[in-house]
Amino acid sequence: MSRRRARTRLAHGGATAVGCVRASNQDDHGAGDDLFVVADGMGGHRGGEVASAEAVTGVLGAFDQRTRIGLARAVDRANQAVLARAAGDPDLFGMGTTLCALALVRSEDGEMLAIANVGDSRVYRYGDGHLVQVTDDHSLVAELVRSGELTEDEASRHPQRNILTRALGIEAALPVDTWEVPARAGDRYLLCSDGLFNELDDDAIAGVLVAEDDPELAAATLVRNAVTAGGHDNVTAVVVDVAAAPADAPDWQRPEALVEVPSSGVTRSARAALADRSRRWAFTFGRRRSGR
Ligand code: MG
Repeated sequence: MSRRRARTRLAHGGATAVGCVRASNQDDHGAGDDLFVVADGMGGHRGGEVASAEAVTGVLGAFDQRTRIGLARAVDRANQAVLARAAGDPDLFGMGTTLCALALVRSEDGEMLAIANVGDSRVYRYGDGHLVQVTDDHSLVAELVRSGELTEDEASRHPQRNILTRALGIEAALPVDTWEVPARAGDRYLLCSDGLFNELDDDAIAGVLVAEDDPELAAATLVRNAVTAGGHDNVTAVVVDVAAAPADAPDWQRPEALVEVPSSGVTRSARAALADRSRRWAFTFGRRRSGR
């Protein structure tokens, strides 16, 4: 007998704003075929805008294998595209971008959501009454919090909180954090740039996600609230709703990140990567972003 399984169905809305301080919007976002992307570019002149746009279109265009690893490979190909673009234009030298993405994928457990992250844009999940940050920030202060050298509170006021330890556009062998989580009907995901969560705390973010049913309205309200709260940076939000999913989807949990280095075919656990990262990434590739 064949019982007809409900298919996962996603609905989404996105919004972005330049904010109150910056002259241009170097954030970008995009969506296509159950794939959602947010990027926050950095680099002088038009570099940041070009890097984030190149990264978003790069991932959307390269996602041809609907699995967690396929998503990491798409991020890797977007990284190669950003590097190639910078190499061909002296005005774009040194540009880089964060990137976070969420996609519906196939796995041994059926349809799942894959999440990928490089940098300090974030993916949150709101479900069962709780807002949880799924991604880990690749920033100097976040590394110091994870290693126990700074408290969250100290990190939020740290003068070097803009230093990133990983970004697209820096080097060819890019480690990409990835997760695979169950798609549960009624769950809501938020992809956003730091301009959102630096202005709004978790309660303010969750409040909007609870109050606004429509994902387009929820994204627009989050961005508007962040601008009203100060708008010190560009602000971008993409809200993705799991509108339908198989009723037998497993309970939601956040597994440890798997760190893919697609260019070298390496997969490591986040714990193994952390030791490596704190030696290699934190200071070699750390760089200052313009801003606050
Ligand atoms: Mg930003």
